[in-house]
Amino acid sequence: MTIVTIVAVTAIAIGGFRLVWDLATPGRLDIPVPKDVEVQANGLPVGYEFAAALSGQGDKLMCGPISWELVGEVPPGGRTAVMEAVELLSTLTGLTVQPADQVGIAAVPFTLEFVSASELARAAAGYGGGNEAIGLAITMHSSVGITSSQILLSEPFFSAALASNEDQAVLVVLHELGHALGLGHSADPSSVMYPYLSAQGRITDADVVAFKAVTPSC
Ligand SMILES: [Zn+2]
Repeated sequence: MTIVTIVAVTAIAIGGFRLVWDLATPGRLDIPVPKDVEVQANGLPVGYEFAAALSGQGDKLMCGPISWELVGEVPPGGRTAVMEAVELLSTLTGLTVQPADQVGIAAVPFTLEFVSASELARAAAGYGGGNEAIGLAITMHSSVGITSSQILLSEPFFSAALASNEDQAVLVVLHELGHALGLGHSADPSSVMYPYLSAQGRITDADVVAFKAVTPSC
C-alpha cells in the first residue's frame, strides 16, 4: 500500500487579526439550499479544485465513519469551535463524524491540534506554505482513498478569533476539514474554501455542492 503525504493547504491570514470583523453579519455558518450552481465535469463547482492531484479526480475519503480528536492544549472556546465545525461537516456531507473515544470500530481519524505560530510556520514551510499560515491539513492517501488527516491550527490566531469572532474561527476549522476531505480551494472570496481569510467568508451555495462532491458514496 502506497502512502503519500499531501498537504493541503494553508489558509493564509495576512493581517488576519487586523481585519475589522463584521460582528453583525448574520448567517455566516448557515447552510444554504444550493441553487444555480454551475458544476465542472469533475463534479466540483466552477472555481473549485481538488486538494490533491493524485488522480485526475482527486481522492475521496475511505469509506466508513470519521473520528475526530483534539489533542494537546486547547485555548478557551477552542473545543466548542471545533465541535461546531465538525457538526457543520456532518450536516454538509451526511457522514458520521464522532469523537474518537466514542467510536468502537475502525474510522478515518482526523486529529486536530492547536500549535504555536512558529510550529505551524515550520510545518507549512515543509509543504511550501508561508509564515502566515493559520491552519494546515496534512492528509494521508492510499489506494483506498484518504485514510487519515492531521489538522494543525494556529493557537495565537484562534485565541484572538475566538475572543472576537467565533464564526470566523469555526469557518477556518471547517476550511481545514474540507481539505481533510480532499477538497481544495475556491476562487470565490465568499467561499469557506477561499485560500485567504476573508471577512465575507461564509458557507456559500457552491460550498454546499463542493462538500457533497467530495463525499464518498459508500
Ligand atoms: Zn486552505
